[in-house]
Amino acid sequence: MKKRILVAVAVLLFLPASVFAAEFWASKNSNKYHYPSCKWAQKIKPGNLVKFSTPEQAAKAGYVPCKVCRPPGPGQ
Ligand SMILES: [Zn+2]
Repeated sequence: MKKRILVAVAVLLFLPASVFAAEFWASKNSNKYHYPSCKWAQKIKPGNLVKFSTPEQAAKAGYVPCKVCRPPGPGQ
């Protein structure tokens, strides 16, 4: 019984973190994409936010890596 609760807690703690890690944020008003933790990503208004799960998708949409948070470029 205790074990089951521990597993549930572990899933709740680690699942959002892994989803979060596989995400890059960009603004409709710029040509840069960021790690969600970047201070510039935090400033993007929800209405302008574009999310990508891979650098390739961001590059295809015309975005380049941010020079502050340095997310991986396409093919890296
Ligand atoms: Zn950034």
